[in-house]
Amino acid sequence: MKIAVFPGSFDPITKGHVDLVNRAIPLFDKIIVAVGINSQKKYLFSLEQRLEMLEKVFANDKTVHIGQFEGLTVNYCKDEGARYLLRGLRNASDFDYEKTISQLNHIIGDDLETVFLISQPEYSHISSTIVREIIKGKGNIEPFIPVEIIGQVEL
Ligand code: ADP
Repeated sequence: MKIAVFPGSFDPITKGHVDLVNRAIPLFDKIIVAVGINSQKKYLFSLEQRLEMLEKVFANDKTVHIGQFEGLTVNYCKDEGARYLLRGLRNASDFDYEKTISQLNHIIGDDLETVFLISQPEYSHISSTIVREIIKGKGNIEPFIPVEIIGQVEL
């Protein structure tokens, strides 16, 4: 069984994340969208809120599961029996960052393969960081977040 972990902060999940998962569904038997918990990082949404948003968005996708983990992504993949990591690339700075992490994970994760999907042009400007900035500025984030969470989760 081909299992992929899609790790991220999802603070909050955006249309860019959803598009990536939808495009990866035909490639894998199971995709675990997993919230990585980093105690050093400050989040806008609580872990519970982020998990709730993910559950809502992927409620109808049988092959998509929601998870959470602390510590190294490679260890979580091993625990879940996942041989693949899924990540998105929006631009050159994503590439530079992701390249190093992917090479490291391949070594410490016993040949764990990272599968990259290039963001579609209409989503490449979307990031959770931008969405958080718009929330702080009391702007409208509806164009950037999945419809399932509009008005459902307290933003
Ligand atoms: P992290 O804190 O690990 O960067 P994010 O939740 O910001 O977590 O992103 C998780 C993954 O989703 C990353 O691989 C990122 O490149 C990808 N991603 C984020 N936004 C988009 C987008 N708009 N289009 C495609 N991929 C995206």
